[in-house]
Amino acid sequence: MAPEPGPVPPARPSGQAGNRPVRVLVLGGTTEASGLARALADRPGVEVTTSFAGRTTAPAAAAGRARVGGFGGADGLATYLRDEGVDVLVDATHPFAARMRWHAVAAAEATGVSRLRVERPAWAPEPGDRWTVVADLDAAAAAVRAGRYRRVLLTTGRTELAPFAVCRDTWLLVRSVEAPDPAVLATLADAEVLLARGPFTVEGERALLDERAIDAVVTKNSGGAATGAKLVAARERGLPVVLVDRPPSPPGPRAETVAEALAWLAPHLP
Ligand code: NAP
Repeated sequence: MAPEPGPVPPARPSGQAGNRPVRVLVLGGTTEASGLARALADRPGVEVTTSFAGRTTAPAAAAGRARVGGFGGADGLATYLRDEGVDVLVDATHPFAARMRWHAVAAAEATGVSRLRVERPAWAPEPGDRWTVVADLDAAAAAVRAGRYRRVLLTTGRTELAPFAVCRDTWLLVRSVEAPDPAVLATLADAEVLLARGPFTVEGERALLDERAIDAVVTKNSGGAATGAKLVAARERGLPVVLVDRPPSPPGPRAETVAEALAWLAPHLP
C-alpha cells in the first residue's frame, strides 16, 4: 500500500525576495573573515556561514555557522552556492591563498551571486627597512643564500619549508602555528621549530631576535597588525628582511577591512 502523503513542505523563497534570511558565505581562514562573521552573526535577517579549508586542526570558533573542507574546485563551489541558496559570497581568504580567489570569481559568475574580495593591505617599507622583495619561496631561499645569512627567523608557514632545503649553511628558526611535517623538516640542514600563534608584540619580537641572535627575517607579505611586529623589530635592529610578494588578485570589488566589507554589503542586507 502506498504510504500516506506527508505534509507538503513550503516552497523555499528564491533570492532575497522571500522572508528567509539573506545568506552570506564567507570564505575564511583569516582575522578579517572571523571579524566579518562576528559583525554579521547577530544581525536580524542575515545568516552567515564561514567556510574553512580545514588546514589547521582547530579553527577558531566562528560566529554564525561554519563548514570545513574544500568544495571540489570552482564547480563544487558553484554547486554549493546554488544548493545552499547563498545570496552573497565574500572571499576573505588569506592574501597568500592563491587559488580560492579564482574559484570564487568563477563560481560567482556561474551562479550570478554577488562577490566581494576582502584583502588586508600589504605591508609597505618605511625608512630604515632593509627589504629584499622576492616573487616566491624559491627566490626567498636564493636570497638567503646570496645574503649568506646564518641565523634566520623563518615565518613563511609550516607547509612552505621545502624550498629552504637548499640553505645548507643557515640555521632556521621555523616559527609556525602548528608543527611542520617531520619529513620536510628533516630535509632542512639545521632547523629548530618554535610553535607560536600571533598576535606578536614588538617587545616580544625584539627579544626573540636578540636572544636567538637572528641575522635575517624571511616572511610573506601577509600584512596586518597581528604579525607585523617582527618587521618593526627588524627595522630597529637594522636586520635584512626577505619578503615574499603576494600572488595576483582578481579584478572586481574589494575591501581592505571589515568596516569596508560591511559598507559594501549594506545594500545586500535587510
Ligand atoms: P588556496 O591555495 O587558495 O586553496 C587551495 C584549496 O583549498 C582550494 O582549491 C579549496 O579546495 C580549499 N580552500 C581554500 N580556502 C578554503 C575555504 N576558506 N573554505 C573551503 N575550502 C577552501 O589556499 P591555501 O593557501 O591552501 O590556504 C588554505 C586556507 O588557509 C585558506 O582558507 C586561507 O584563507 C587560509 N590561510 C592561508 C594562508 C597562506 O599563507 N596560504 C595563511 C593563513 C591562512 P577546493 O578546490 O576543493 O574547494
